[in-house]
Amino acid sequence: METFRVGLLLTERCDAECSHCWFSSGPNRTRSMKPDEARGYIDQAAEVSTVEWISFTGGEPFLMPEALVELVGYASERGIKVECATNCSWATSKEAAESRLNELMDAGLDTVNISMDDFHQRHIPFERVRNCYEASKEGGIKAVIMCASSRSNALGIDEIRLRLGDEGIHDIRAGRPTSPVSALAVETGFIPVGRAASIPEEEWLIGDGPLDGPCEEVLRDIGIAPSGQVLPCCSAAGLVDYARLGDAGTERLSELLRRARLNPLFKMLSSEGPRGLDRIIDGSRGDRYVNRCHLCHDVLSDPRLPDAIEKLG
Ligand code: SF4
Ligand code: SF4
Repeated sequence: METFRVGLLLTERCDAECSHCWFSSGPNRTRSMKPDEARGYIDQAAEVSTVEWISFTGGEPFLMPEALVELVGYASERGIKVECATNCSWATSKEAAESRLNELMDAGLDTVNISMDDFHQRHIPFERVRNCYEASKEGGIKAVIMCASSRSNALGIDEIRLRLGDEGIHDIRAGRPTSPVSALAVETGFIPVGRAASIPEEEWLIGDGPLDGPCEEVLRDIGIAPSGQVLPCCSAAGLVDYARLGDAGTERLSELLRRARLNPLFKMLSSEGPRGLDRIIDGSRGDRYVNRCHLCHDVLSDPRLPDAIEKLG
């Protein structure tokens, strides 16, 4: 459970309001990290010797343009690799995309994670995604395409390849690429929690991912929310108060992580996954889940779990 990446959720605000957004971001969410708080978290992350990456995410981190450039530079100067997620709403033209990405690359940005799928494209014209993607290629920055899918999904990786005119986009479900690729693409079923819980069940991709087995992300790929709360991963567990590690505004991240690694909750997630947690409650959960993270959110939200964990000692 050595932490390799720290995601800073710079803001809860977003200029889109996607129906599948389990973090329930949107224009009416206002909480953001102050730049000096973010710098403090980067300093704390740099103290953890295993941390290789800082990821700026949200909400939409490009809504804080000056802070983003400054923070990318701050993290990069500390020898940490930097990635940034975006919905590309700001890439209104090829020139606008090049100008913003070049500034971030000059500051030290290594990778841009670009969201593209039916959910996002109900709010953001695909043209803007193309502008950002092409600017990333021309600038020589790595791009990772993030695609959330549903049962009636039309914009999957095959369609994205067609629309971007790029056959070099590699679907990670096909395994590790054996030759150079232009971008990696990750397509997963949306997780029906948070706002996404209101999407009708017939759209859920039940069984899209495995439900059994250990979680390889817990405490390895953590997040810090604008409130300072440390999230155990960058997925749905972060919504559950019980699974949070504490406040990085009042305690050192290294201490919160040290304590978490001793916590039977995270040990169980890392060794047996959410199925193990279900088993110590009553083992009653079946297979009506999209993936392990969907199951995990359900188990972590069970009010009987804290007592069951307490008994494990
Ligand atoms: S999924 Fe991304 S783009 Fe959509 S509302 Fe959430 S943060 Fe914004
Ligand atoms: S299984 Fe749970 S702890 Fe692991 S990444 Fe998914 S939500 Fe997070």
